[in-house]
Amino acid sequence: MKIHEFQAKRIFRQNHIPVPDGDVAVDPQKAVKIAQNIGKFPVVVKAQIHAGGRGKGGGVKLAHSLEDVSHHADAIIGMNLVTHQTGPEGKRVKQVLVESGVDIEKELYLSLIPDRETACVLVIASEAGGMDIEEVASKTPEKIIKVRINPLSGIQPFHCRKVSYGLNLPKPVIKAFSQMLNRLYQLFIEKDCSLVEINPLVITKQNSVIALDAKMDFDDNALFRHKGILELRDLDEEDPLDVEASKYNLNYINLDGTVGNMVNGAGLAMAVMDTIKLAGAEPANFLDVGGGATAEMVENGFKIILSDDKVKGILINIFGGILRCDVLAKGVVEAAKKTKINVPLVVRMEGTNVEEGRRILAESGLSLFTAVDMKDAGEKVARIGV
Ligand code: ADP
Ligand code: MG
Repeated sequence: MKIHEFQAKRIFRQNHIPVPDGDVAVDPQKAVKIAQNIGKFPVVVKAQIHAGGRGKGGGVKLAHSLEDVSHHADAIIGMNLVTHQTGPEGKRVKQVLVESGVDIEKELYLSLIPDRETACVLVIASEAGGMDIEEVASKTPEKIIKVRINPLSGIQPFHCRKVSYGLNLPKPVIKAFSQMLNRLYQLFIEKDCSLVEINPLVITKQNSVIALDAKMDFDDNALFRHKGILELRDLDEEDPLDVEASKYNLNYINLDGTVGNMVNGAGLAMAVMDTIKLAGAEPANFLDVGGGATAEMVENGFKIILSDDKVKGILINIFGGILRCDVLAKGVVEAAKKTKINVPLVVRMEGTNVEEGRRILAESGLSLFTAVDMKDAGEKVARIGV
């Protein structure tokens, strides 16, 4: 789960990680009040959306007077902000962060993520931080340093030294930076984060270290033990179909293609998406109805897929294990009747009671295509779905 920059900065502040003074506003009047409270210029007005690249997209503006603040807040609130992370459709801005402008000497990059391969927390840092970090990573990867921290022993002074030296930090900055990295690591662990990213982390002309941007992402599976974090969820920032699917406890992710698909088991679901692509079409979603899927879950899955206008054909691929094929077939028939499926359906199933399942589908009167194997299923649905 992602949160906004202003929310992440509040969490940083509570954890004594330095951030500029500031607050969030939903209208220009409030923005001006915040700027008055800050009491000095410049201040920065920043669009709050769950995507980066706001600076380049025109969502971060410097203001030198209260009129400027009001003008920028008015222009940014309500705008449709398009950045390289929002996709071409952009995101509607509902609120801005108004914060103190910082006198920047140098912009660094710093992030923490779980490294699944080594089961460590990976610290990624670069002295070439700022808005072009993607380019730095692709053109001059040697400027990106990586330090792994074993969560069993936790962060140690040598980790901080490694990152500090890798960043070529000036001596007077190292202590403050190390303290910050320590606190970020503790925060990362305590809140079950899947990402903490600060870009840019700036060194000021007075040699202090300040987080100028703040991104936090939390492991959804751990949110049950962080009620306070869960309250920060902004459903407007999430895909409406993803939100709907989460109400049914479905493991669903909306994608760009035209072939809807419903599968039991995440591994099989990924293999099905590969098969669809291999056959020349694009999946419209990822949907794992779960190993122990019920007829009701199948029906809910259908509802979600069918409410997606892009979908031109649906592929169901179920391995009947815990869920027997005959039960599944009944579920499909029921759901098809109730939800009035208006696109062609290709069904491939295998496993327990498969013959009975196929008979139920064949006698259902539904216009559906059965497939004998994955390849056949992919090819059949690709012919319809593209
Ligand atoms: P994004 O990553 O979405 O583009 P950032 O918060 O990183 O948004 O802001 C973009 C750029 O704007 C930063 O790299 C920095 O140069 C500048 N900036 C952002 N906040 C401030 C601030 N408080 N003071 C001075 N400059 C800022
Ligand atoms: Mg940034």
